Amino acid sequence: MQTLILSPANVQPIQKKLYQHRNLQCSVLRLDAVHPVVSGNKWFKLKGFLQAAIAQRKKTVVTFGGPWSNHLLATAAACAAAGLSSIGLVRGEKPPQLSATLSDAQGYGMQLHFLSRDAYREKEVPLSLLENYRNNEWCLIPEGGYGREGAMGAAEILKDIPLTDYSHIVCAVGTGTTLAGLSLAAGISQAVTGIAVLKNARTIDEEVKAVLPADKNNFRIVHDFHFGGYAKKTTELVQFMNRWYLETRIPSDFVYTGKMFFAADSLLAAGYFPKGASVLLVHTGGLQGNRSLPKGTLIF
Ligand SMILES: *Cc1c(COP(=O)(O)O)cnc(C)c1O
Repeated sequence: MQTLILSPANVQPIQKKLYQHRNLQCSVLRLDAVHPVVSGNKWFKLKGFLQAAIAQRKKTVVTFGGPWSNHLLATAAACAAAGLSSIGLVRGEKPPQLSATLSDAQGYGMQLHFLSRDAYREKEVPLSLLENYRNNEWCLIPEGGYGREGAMGAAEILKDIPLTDYSHIVCAVGTGTTLAGLSLAAGISQAVTGIAVLKNARTIDEEVKAVLPADKNNFRIVHDFHFGGYAKKTTELVQFMNRWYLETRIPSDFVYTGKMFFAADSLLAAGYFPKGASVLLVHTGGLQGNRSLPKGTLIF
């Protein structure tokens, strides 16, 4: 399989008085910097699905996402690299003007089909596609790359990281697939904390467990930092993201990583992590989604 060329992810230490005070170490795994388009966790989650598609001689990959979806764009780029066609089933009616994300996805050859919100919720594949692809040449990737394949791929995020340097790992949680992958890769002495970005994500613990072996329960999901729900934001969040950038030179996105950094910073300050802990924050990318914000909202 032809794959995307990724630069190695680097680990950036964060120096803050607040952390030194309790002898805490904090570092960020910069997956945002591995590829200009397919940054972050998405390529890792997709890999297994695409390999399976190719092994089964499928020609087309179909998947789901919203108008600013990192997953849709990553799927479009990864399929283009792998020589597969891609179809994106997009939440909501077709807008008069495509979002920058959808327009980029289309640029990678992705065919877009718009689903009403109800059809999207039910993950209904349009009849027109069913007829076109009845000959079984296409395969479906669940929304967000959720599933065992996705988690196995996400486990590779930590492949080249000196894991024993860290006692705790933190990431944002949408479908929980990345969290599951990090839990798979983590050693017995490591705890993984997921920051839920959806409100009322009550079933998420079960969904993560569903893709993990029964004996893996080294993760915990914190539900207090969704800022009102998926893709919702507050002035406090935006101000934090700008301040975090000034302090660390690390840009974040307002849907996932901004909330994760805010949560991690609050938890570090609140004594959530034991004295002497060494915490690795996984920057899962997604910066392209900030293009949905009014200009000037963020300083980076
Ligand atoms: C998709 C995404 C996540 C969530 O990953 P899950 O595996 O669905 O939990 C986190 N961060 C960014 C930037 C994402 O695009």
